[in-house]
Amino acid sequence: MTTTATSETTASFADQPVDRQFIAGQWREGRSERVLTDTNPFDDTTVATIRQASKEDLDEAYRTAEQAQREWAATAPNKRAGVLRRAAEILQERRGEIVDWLVREGGSTVLKANIEVSLALGITREAASFPSRVHGRLFDSNTPNREMRVYKKPVGVVGVISPWNFPLHLSQRSVAPALALGNAVVIKPASDTPVTGGLLLARIFEEAGLPAGVLSVVVGAGSEIGDDFVAHPVPRLISFTGSTPVGKHVGSLATGGDHLKKVALELGGNAPLVVLDDADLDAAVEQAVTGTFLHSGQICMAVNRIIVQAPVYDEFVDRFAEAAKNVSYGDPAQEGTLVGPVVNDSQLDGLKDKINWAREAGARVVLDGEIEGRVVPPHVFADVTPDMEIAREEIFGPLVAVLRAEDEEHALALANDHEFGLSSSVFTQDLGRGLQFAQQVQAGMTFINEMTVQDEAHVAFGGERNSGLGRFNGEWAIEEFTTDHTIGVTQL
Ligand code: NAD
Repeated sequence: MTTTATSETTASFADQPVDRQFIAGQWREGRSERVLTDTNPFDDTTVATIRQASKEDLDEAYRTAEQAQREWAATAPNKRAGVLRRAAEILQERRGEIVDWLVREGGSTVLKANIEVSLALGITREAASFPSRVHGRLFDSNTPNREMRVYKKPVGVVGVISPWNFPLHLSQRSVAPALALGNAVVIKPASDTPVTGGLLLARIFEEAGLPAGVLSVVVGAGSEIGDDFVAHPVPRLISFTGSTPVGKHVGSLATGGDHLKKVALELGGNAPLVVLDDADLDAAVEQAVTGTFLHSGQICMAVNRIIVQAPVYDEFVDRFAEAAKNVSYGDPAQEGTLVGPVVNDSQLDGLKDKINWAREAGARVVLDGEIEGRVVPPHVFADVTPDMEIAREEIFGPLVAVLRAEDEEHALALANDHEFGLSSSVFTQDLGRGLQFAQQVQAGMTFINEMTVQDEAHVAFGGERNSGLGRFNGEWAIEEFTTDHTIGVTQL
């Protein structure tokens, strides 16, 4: 397997088995009867076998986190920042090993795995600045002799639930800020990616000097511990990244049970990429290809609908189909592969359904290919209408729908004709026109003349409508992972 490893230290993840969980400061087996077999989605080899966590394990992780959090919150900001900085160094030093894990466990291509490590590094370095950036405020009071002080405090214990598509980064974008700000964390990674979504991070933070018990990883079935993970009395915030149906369930459990808690929800997407009649078509085609097919389209921000204004529609479809035909697919460990396997059989079956529905609905197939194993070659459907399933469903695979817009207003209406509003793009050579268009898109993020897949650690990330609640990154993460305590001080 080829990777782009940089300088490796002598330490390695390989010196410890990965069949243990990290619960309450101990590397040990879970106590559930169930055993998780973690497999490589490309060749079905077993990458880890893990006895799963039970409800008792979960309770121990949360109770220990509650105890450990107080001391961690009282730790000097420069010491907390130091742990984050060291964690970032380890991520960088072990980049090659982590890339290998992402390829073997999640079917990531080498390109995507390297992007993911860079994203995780970015948020870890950003979070290292949080301990010295968070601050309270003083206000004059309307009552004589009183001063109002608003202290910013960690929320306490944070439960992090992450998906399998960018497991390392999507856990770390909650874990790093939460820890930096003095919270304790329990992670529940996805069952397809327990190692890259949690256990590697536990190893990194342990080595970086994080006190025992401040971070735990519970690997357990959603059906066995999922609801308890959310409803448990200890966590004050549940940070969930995953699908909209599960996110809604998590949100209602977190706010509708005995123990009311904050919830951050980063959910599904169905990103439109709009090509207006004055677009630079070379740039639009190139960006649309990467935005559609990177990580086999298994990205919440992936381009799902390409909306093209009528005068350039035919030319765009021809050029896009030609470029998509040249996308390399197959073995994710092979340098240059853009489309690897999809993560599991249920995702594969869902994609087969979407392909069949698109054909049956009358979409014009301009590119398809034979599915081999779990590798789905790029599929392009043109003349899609907004009512077809291929336009309505989140695709999460290397398939894309191209829709014709009669004019700019129609393009905007099509872009906004969806329950989701995560990322979006518009291509035009007139930046004023692009900005005016972008302002009217109902989404958390819009990019002019770039693809929809973007994430910078210091800039707000998040969605509108059924794509979620809250924002990650930079100062938005400081808000998300802290709470305010108002104290009035009266001079008698
Ligand atoms: P999923 O919703 O099936 O699972 C996400 C996580 O929730 C997993 O860890 C799963 O084990 C857990 N879970 C399942 N049932 C649960 C329950 N009852 N209680 C608590 N946890 C439970 O999503 P997935 O298939 O892993 O990921 C793909 C989805 O994630 C897509 O919809 C994608 O758009 C979305 N996603 C969103 C973002 C974003 O930033 N908005 C990023 C990546 C992925």
